[in-house]
This record gives sequence, C-alpha cells and structure tokens, in this order.
Amino acid sequence: MLNKAFVWIRDDLRVSDNPALINASLNHDRVSAVYIFNKQNFDNKREAQKWWISKSLESFREDLDKYNINLELIISEESKFFSEINNKDICVYWNKVYEPLQLDLDKKVIKILDNKKIEYKFFKGNVLNEYQTITKKDGTPFKVFSPFWRHAEQIYLERIPIKEKKLNKLKQKIDIFKSISKPNDILPNKKWYKKFENYWTVSEKESFVQLQKFLKERISSYGVNRDFPSLNGSSKLSPYIRNGQLNVNTIWSNCSNLKNKNIGIRKYLNELGWREFSHSLINYFPEMLKGNLRKEFDKFPWENSKKNLTAWKKGLTGYPIVDAGMRQMYETGWMHNRIRMVVGSFLVKHLRIDWKEGEKHFRNCLLDFNEANNVAQWQWVAGCGADAAPYFRIFNPILQGEKFDKSGDYVKRWVPELKNYPSKFIHKPWELDDKYQKSINTIIGKDYPKPIVVHENARKAALNAFQSLKK
Ligand SMILES: Cc1cc2nc3c(=O)[nH]c(=O)nc-3n(C[C@H](O)[C@H](O)[C@H](O)COP(=O)(O)OP(=O)(O)OC[C@H]3O[C@@H](n4cnc5c(N)ncnc54)[C@H](O)[C@@H]3O)c2cc1C
Repeated sequence: MLNKAFVWIRDDLRVSDNPALINASLNHDRVSAVYIFNKQNFDNKREAQKWWISKSLESFREDLDKYNINLELIISEESKFFSEINNKDICVYWNKVYEPLQLDLDKKVIKILDNKKIEYKFFKGNVLNEYQTITKKDGTPFKVFSPFWRHAEQIYLERIPIKEKKLNKLKQKIDIFKSISKPNDILPNKKWYKKFENYWTVSEKESFVQLQKFLKERISSYGVNRDFPSLNGSSKLSPYIRNGQLNVNTIWSNCSNLKNKNIGIRKYLNELGWREFSHSLINYFPEMLKGNLRKEFDKFPWENSKKNLTAWKKGLTGYPIVDAGMRQMYETGWMHNRIRMVVGSFLVKHLRIDWKEGEKHFRNCLLDFNEANNVAQWQWVAGCGADAAPYFRIFNPILQGEKFDKSGDYVKRWVPELKNYPSKFIHKPWELDDKYQKSINTIIGKDYPKPIVVHENARKAALNAFQSLKK
C-alpha cells in the first residue's frame, strides 16, 4: 500500500463516521484532506451556503489538525483538478454524493484516475441506504412514500452499518497541493451572510451538541410541536446534515439508543425517510431536476409576474404568515417546514408562478439547500411530483396562520410592523377597523402592504388553471 493519500472532501465535513477519511487514516502514513470549491456550482446559485461551507472549513481544519491531517482548499473545477494531478504514488479516497451530476462526476474522475494509473477507493455517502438497493419486487423504483419507507427501513435494519472505526492520529502532516486559498476566499461578496452568525454555530462539535439537546429535550414532543413555527419543535439539524457535519447513520444509532421509545422518534425517523425518498426520486427520475415529474403539468398556464415574484421574495405579499416565512429565511438561512409548504403553495397556487422560480430562490437562500429535498418538495407542493399534494388542495394562508400560529407570535417576530395587532386580526390585518389601525400606528397599505391577491379570487383562478390541463 502506498504511504500517501488524499481524501476528496465533498458533503462530508466531519471527522467521525466519515468512511473515506477514516479508512485513509488507517491505510496510509500521511494523509491530506482536499476540498475543491467549484465556483460554477455556487455563484448566484447557492450564495447562503458559501457562508456555511467557509465556516465549516475553518472548524474542520482545526479538528483535522488534531490528527495531523492538513485541509487544503482548492478553488477549481473538479475534472480539471484531477486531470492535472501528476503524482502516481498517491491514493485518492472519497465518499459518494447521491445527485445525478455528482455521480456522473465520479465516473469522470474514475476515468481520469484509471488513465493515470492512480489508485482510488470510494465509500457510501450520507444516506441510510444507497438508492439502488431500494426497489419494488419487480425492480422498478417506488413513487409513493409509505411503501418506499416501509421497505427501506426494513432493509436498513437488516444491514445496519457496523460502527465505523475511529480516525487514526497520523505521525506526520503533509501538504500535497500547497494550496494557498483560505476559507474566507469563498465567502459571498454581499455581506448579508453576517446575520447568519447570530443564529448558527458551524462545527461538527456543535452538531452533536444540538443533536443531544434535541434528543433529550424535544424529540418526545416532536410529533406535535414540529408543526408550530413559533416553537423550537423540530431538530434544526438540516444544515448540519446537508453539509455533512452529521452523518444520518449517526442520528439513526443515537435515536435507537434512546431508552424511552416514544412516538416522536418514529415521526422524526420518518422525516429522514422523506430525505431518502427524495434522493431515490432524483436519481431514478433525473429529468425532474429540470422539469415536472408529471408531464401533464408542462401545459400549466403559469403567470409571469415579476412584480408578484419580487413581493413574494421580499416578504411583502400582505399575507403575514407568508411574509414571516420569507423574511425568516432571508434573515437566518432557514425556514420552518410548515411555513415552507405555505409559502410554496402561495407562490404556485395564489400567484400561479412556476415552482422552478421558488426552487431557485430557496436554493440561493437556504443553508440546508439540497437538490434532492428542494426539487422533490417543490414538486410535492406544486402537485406535479411523486406522491404529491394534489394541486386542487389549496392552502388558505389565513387559516394556516390561525391554526399554526394562533397567537401570532411567529408573525410578530418576523414582521415587526404588525407587533401591535390584536391576535384576532394578525393573519388578516386588512380587516381591522381603520380607526384602530391609526391608533396603533400601523396602516395597511402604508406601513404594511395590502394583500397582493384576494384569497378567494386567487383560489378560483388556480382551480381554473388546473382544470385547463384536462382539456
Ligand atoms: C418547498 C420546500 C423546500 C424544501 N427544501 C429543502 C432543502 O433544500 N433541504 C432540506 O434539507 N429540506 C428541505 N425541505 C424539507 C424540510 O422543510 C426541511 O428539511 C426541514 O424544515 C429542516 O428542518 P429540521 O432540520 O428542523 O427538520 P426536522 O423536522 O428536524 O427533520 C429531520 C431531518 O429530516 C429531513 N427532512 C425533514 N423534512 C423533510 C422533508 N419534507 N423532505 C425531505 N427531508 C426532510 C431533514 O434532513 C431534516 O433535518 C423543503 C420543504 C419544502 C416544503
């Protein structure tokens, strides 16, 4: 075995439960970790994630240092980087990423390394099951979540991975590519990311702290509280999972070790199941990354209103629950799941704007953006995906607000213009008497927008548009 190796770090910025890194440290005397930042994948596409990754690289570098492993940041395009490697006395390791373009990239890299006669090894990435292992009896992919998850869970239980060995501390550090780039070099130009620092601590250690806190204090009430955006009901681990500070196998084993087997655990694992389902869908149906999975939606008469799209992005639609969600995302890089469904439904049904516009905006603003979840969930909301919410089931943003944010705490947090509104009117502020509006110094149409569409009219227009697909 060669004595030098490097690990191509991708969505796996962690030292524990990282198969490629651990195996490299056990098999070689000197190991370097290499992160390739490909600008084309980020500029004006995934701006928020530049911040998370930059911070992750800083803390990961410190963690790796304790094991005498250097982290080298290379700003390049992956195929170009691998084509330019000259040393043959080196072995390359990586964990897989289950996105069609990334799996294609693996094939290209393998070809390059084979041609150069460079050794390589790759390992299972951050999923419970590799998508190819979960199919129906006839070998075709599942399109409905419940049978998918029943089967996937069973397969996982049968093959629960043996606990990964630990990362080995090496005797000597190496710096293979003499990289000079620093994590700060990949930060977005626009300083709006500064606000994220108030909400997130980005490190592998913090992901464990948050996981343990969630399992100790919140998982038992998760089944109920996860739906109420003013409560801290869900795990908020999604950015850590997405960027690989946390391996989902680690989450699973921590949940299985809990003594009190409450219903919250089942519900929580179910959500990880949706993540698995999304990964399966985009790999079996990669065409859904570009368009509707259900082709009949290709004829949908989408509206092309820039004005309404901008109002939605800025949180100025006049519907407080929608505006609160959009502002929460812009301020913190994260949005509550129920509210993601409400704002998504509002875009594709009330405004009849193509879901792809929403998907693009989320991609740029979410710290947890992940191609599988984002595309599959947008198509779920729009009714054109697998096992999707039917298009004709239209969320009423007023009733959603009254049901899940009854006292208006969530709205008041993110839409401070409405902080003095009585709870009765917080989700329909335009109905408050003019005199009262004046007395609390918040006039609808001046201090906060009037609704950009009238709910009942928008609902009818959406249903008519949907009917037109059947003609
Ligand atoms: C329109 C829309 C877009 C979305 N885009 C993304 C995205 O880009 N990235 C992303 O990770 N999630 C996305 N989701 C799913 C979900 O909203 C987030 O995963 C969740 O809000 C993250 O918060 P949490 O970690 O507290 O979740 P928890 O409720 O604690 O759930 C645990 C984990 O399960 C996974 N998960 C939860 N809900 C879902 C779901 N519906 N589908 C797939 N996986 C899920 C996440 O990894 C999450 O961290 C989207 C949902 C909608 C409706």
